[in-house]
Amino acid sequence: MLCPACGAPTTRVIDSRPAEGGQTIRRRRECESCAHRFTTYERVEPQLMVRKRDGRLEQFSTAKLVAGISAALADRPVSASSIKRLGEEVEASLRAGGAQVSSEDIGAEVLARLRALDEVAYLRFASVYKDFQDAADFEKEVAALESAE
Ligand SMILES: [Zn+2]
Repeated sequence: MLCPACGAPTTRVIDSRPAEGGQTIRRRRECESCAHRFTTYERVEPQLMVRKRDGRLEQFSTAKLVAGISAALADRPVSASSIKRLGEEVEASLRAGGAQVSSEDIGAEVLARLRALDEVAYLRFASVYKDFQDAADFEKEVAALESAE
């Protein structure tokens, strides 16, 4: 942690105690360059939970998300780093929305971004996640894509 007074990278913890009823650790730090003292708080990052279609809750997994996107993008000319970035964007957007998301929320976030990245992958992903009522919906989606070109 950089010293807020002089920007030096070496600070040491001179005191550490629980705060906010144990939800947080409050630390007093001292800069080894200029001796400036300041306070930091450490707290647990809130877990993002996913509500599955059958109602079960599951911890959000970035690896699973990226694997799902990668599967949709198999054989497509999209780099691994683009896939990873897409996964990170989706995760950030989901976290901003609260502590719990549904499978549908995740699907919608991925779809919104995948469409701009690769249309074939978009359709593959849509067929799995978008819960198409029947084949007609899928055809409508394809037609909408084609007319957008
Ligand atoms: Zn300093």
